[in-house]
Amino acid sequence: MKALVKYGMKPGEVELREVEKPAAGPDDVIMRVKSVGVCGSDIEFWQNRITFPVNIPVTLGHEFAGIVEEVG
Ligand SMILES: [Zn+2]
Repeated sequence: MKALVKYGMKPGEVELREVEKPAAGPDDVIMRVKSVGVCGSDIEFWQNRITFPVNIPVTLGHEFAGIVEEVG
């Protein structure tokens, strides 16, 4: 599956990568994403203006809607 990944701490160091599909843990759900939005924090990640610690690489994006495919 594809994911937008922040891979470095310089502005613009994000890229679309092929990543492994995650497996649902006991308290998780896996969703098939159908629609996404861009949050202000995504822009801050892209421009590296984040104000909290981040371990890279990190997959970006948290504004989405979809269908639950798997329940842990
Ligand atoms: Zn947001």
